[in-house]
Amino acid sequence: MNTPARPSTQGEPEFPLQPIEVVSVLGAIGLVLTHVALFARMPEFWHWTTPVVIVLGLLGADFFAAVLHWAGDTWGTEHTPWVGRRFLHPFRYHHARPLEMLKSNFFTTNGDTALSALPFLLVPFLIPLGTAGGRITALFFAAVGGWGMWTSQFHQWAHMKSPPRVVAWLQRRGAILSREHHRKHHKAPFATNYGITTGWCDGFLNAIRFFQTLEWSVTKLTGCEPRSESVPIATERPRGTNQQEVS
Ligand SMILES: [Zn+2]
Ligand SMILES: [Zn+2]
Repeated sequence: MNTPARPSTQGEPEFPLQPIEVVSVLGAIGLVLTHVALFARMPEFWHWTTPVVIVLGLLGADFFAAVLHWAGDTWGTEHTPWVGRRFLHPFRYHHARPLEMLKSNFFTTNGDTALSALPFLLVPFLIPLGTAGGRITALFFAAVGGWGMWTSQFHQWAHMKSPPRVVAWLQRRGAILSREHHRKHHKAPFATNYGITTGWCDGFLNAIRFFQTLEWSVTKLTGCEPRSESVPIATERPRGTNQQEVS
């Protein structure tokens, strides 16, 4: 059910394309290709550690996505100044209407995650590559950004009943977020399985009660209270904004 943006009854697309989304996605893809070209030219990168670090980057991307997702589900409200309407509301709205994201186009789906991946893709340019440690760190950041920018795409596929064949194959093998795994997050109290890239971190983070501890620590340190409602839901759809969880 790979549904593209659907025209509304007024003939307007339901998910109007935002220039920032297009720039973010194309910019992130450009940076990934630049890293691939630069790394491939260095003989030191043709080493057995390279694929290991690239896979660790996917694990790292899932962790950062989980933290951002938890933050979006837990703190503030849709009325919070600056970030409420634009960033928090889509997280909450997704719980009320999870299938709405299937209507979104490619750039709207991936715009926010590509934007949040840009710092990870820019950091490697600041890291000296003269040592093995520097090269591994640079590659790790590039891999986190390169994988992380597709988090919303993986998340969208996890909501499809019939995703493309190759995607279903990757989901079955646990290489990317599966429908079964993500379904657990969509059950009240919406407080487990925050990982929406692969879900690899969830078992461990759930077992050590990572987010409950983090929540307690944030309240202790700042006095801020997490959401009081048992279900982080917003029902009013924000028109002209990204409808999806960003990560
Ligand atoms: Zn959520
Ligand atoms: Zn979801």
